[in-house]
Amino acid sequence: MGIAIALAGNPNSGKTTLFNVLTGARQHVGNYPGVTVEKKQGRCVSGSDEFHVVDLPGTYSLSAYSQEEVVARDFIVTEQPAMIVNIVDASNLERNLYLTLQFMEMGISVCIALNMMDVAEKRGIDIDIEKLSALLGVAVVPMVARTGKGREQLLKTVARHAKTRPAPLQISYGRDIDGALDEMEAKIRFDNFLTSQYVPRWVALKYLENDLQILEMGKKQNPETHAWLTNTAQTLARHLDTTLDTHPEGMIADQRYGFISSILKQGVMTWSRDQNRLEISDKIDKIVTHRFLGPLLMVAVLMGLYQFTFAYSAVPVAWCENLFAWLGGRVDSLLSDGLIKSLMISGIIDGVGGVLGFVPLILFMFLGISFLEDSGYLARMAFMLDRVFRIFGLHGASVMAFIVSGGIAGGCAVPGVMATRTLKSPKERLATLLTVPFMNCGAKLPVYALLVAAFFTEHRARVMLLITFISWAGALLVARLLRSTVITGPATPFVMELPPYRLPTFRGLAIHTWERTWQYIRKAGTVILGISIVLWAMMTFPRLDTAKMADPAPAGTQQAAARQTGEEQAGPAATALRYSIAGRMGTALESITHLAGFDWQTNIALVGGFAAKEVVVSTLGTAYSLGDVDPEDAGSLSERLQSDPGWGPVTAFSLILFTIFYSPCFVTVVCIAKESGSWKWGAFSMVFNTLLALGVSIGFFQTATWIMS
Ligand code: GDP
Ligand code: MG
Repeated sequence: MGIAIALAGNPNSGKTTLFNVLTGARQHVGNYPGVTVEKKQGRCVSGSDEFHVVDLPGTYSLSAYSQEEVVARDFIVTEQPAMIVNIVDASNLERNLYLTLQFMEMGISVCIALNMMDVAEKRGIDIDIEKLSALLGVAVVPMVARTGKGREQLLKTVARHAKTRPAPLQISYGRDIDGALDEMEAKIRFDNFLTSQYVPRWVALKYLENDLQILEMGKKQNPETHAWLTNTAQTLARHLDTTLDTHPEGMIADQRYGFISSILKQGVMTWSRDQNRLEISDKIDKIVTHRFLGPLLMVAVLMGLYQFTFAYSAVPVAWCENLFAWLGGRVDSLLSDGLIKSLMISGIIDGVGGVLGFVPLILFMFLGISFLEDSGYLARMAFMLDRVFRIFGLHGASVMAFIVSGGIAGGCAVPGVMATRTLKSPKERLATLLTVPFMNCGAKLPVYALLVAAFFTEHRARVMLLITFISWAGALLVARLLRSTVITGPATPFVMELPPYRLPTFRGLAIHTWERTWQYIRKAGTVILGISIVLWAMMTFPRLDTAKMADPAPAGTQQAAARQTGEEQAGPAATALRYSIAGRMGTALESITHLAGFDWQTNIALVGGFAAKEVVVSTLGTAYSLGDVDPEDAGSLSERLQSDPGWGPVTAFSLILFTIFYSPCFVTVVCIAKESGSWKWGAFSMVFNTLLALGVSIGFFQTATWIMS
């Protein structure tokens, strides 16, 4: 089994980096506070020792204020790892040790991985490792996780100390609190109250801190002791309020910080340089987050990102298109006409190939975004957007959820919805998780890319920027609407910490870019492939026997088919497509969607898009491939769309608008229902978003065609 260790530490202290260094596992490493929400595990070996490593969510404290804190705490208590490796940011020692103290108070075996030694050194901070270790009574190993320095020593230290159970640390919280704590501790010990899991004094502290999770557990275990403890805690709270005008929680935090600073002052931390000068990061921030310059710069950065993406990906995207065209040609000449060939060419190559064709674009986009994220600029964007968000009834922490969902481009609403867990106010959280699906997730990207490349060739980056603005404006307006109607409630304050700027490493960028790109490719090769095959079948069956074209088709379909033939002189292939299940569905919807400029093939694609948004592209690929009059000279999907008389910039943009706003994909809907605790909200997001999308697209299409006529 090996030695079980858990990595714990403040957000952004380098936990994930250390986890990767230890286990060699590839995992997301970002420069954004709070990225690690889920639990990650791995194994590592050093000499004869084997370790089982878990990456806990980043937390500043172990109170029950946030999901992360509860998750971290529960894990430690229930799984009882042999040792907690507490990653401490050496350049931010005072603040980081706050968490360390709490582990020590819980009586948990802990050792400190003193990370970011390079940063501390650069800032002129000298840390006396031995003294720190001696004063705290905890092993301390200096590290630079980013380069792997200190890895072996850390593992050796863990192996040596893992079996020891230290006595819980006792901090003095001042005469009043200490008195109450002693009394409560005795009672807890005597009643065996929660002591199978927790140290008695720690339970007492939690009662003073009014920790809801522990209170609830206590109430269940022994209502009498619970009542006595709450009573004692309340009496103390009243006493502190009248005598010192403070409350236990505040006092406890103050004393902890006092304890830390008294340790640091004993020669543990010294400055070898003048600290009055502004840090470089602070200097940069003066400009980058400036009230007027900041937003301008932000727009310029986005524009630059899109320009970069489209400009550099155009050529490789064309190669990919050619590759799939060639592949289609090969299959065409190898197989004889029939269902198999149709499945291979129209279902798979023209469907999935359309999605895979955008891999180079996705890769460049992710490279740019990884750079923004790793350098720390993304956190600045969140910081600036916070001011805007508050106006719309959202919270500063919502920004992060938006960005994860694809606020800039290429995220995913599923982790975005999960990321709302960092929001403490349930109202703000709900408003956030209902609006994050409007962002430009990675699955919508190929849809935009296809349409932008086909109809806005001259203005690709600008249109992409416009799409981003519209999605944000839409999300914010909807949030405001929700917050002033169905989810009203007060706004809660938010303090955001800006991580220092860092020059991204080449390796970090490569890993992040590849991880995300690979995810895209894998999804295309599995989920999208499956759905494409299902949709191909729906677009193929029931089959219309071309020899008996005159056979009576179901009334509606026949009429529609007749209308279609009149309009476009479609060949028998298009008529057969219209006769299929999907074709009938698309046709039925046409009576509404024609107002937004969507024909029946587009409708099929949009319905398919509910399964996953990439499917919009693959389905259009299949539909245009199946409906082709002459498959011999078929070009790429964007060429087909360009040459189709039913398509133009107005239709394309109307479809873009619809794609921004309509129902989240199936997985996101499930996630919304789960996270909001009610299927009602899952259903709401499907219905409301689709109606909104329809309204916006119809409004746009009608206005645009009216102006242009
Ligand atoms: P987490 O939030 O605790 O998981 O932190 P991450 O592992 O994501 O690290 C946050 C940032 O700090 C990343 O940009 C890392 O590359 C960087 N980082 C991690 N360890 C070190 C280190 O020892 N030195 C320096 N200079 N940067 C580091
Ligand atoms: Mg992390």
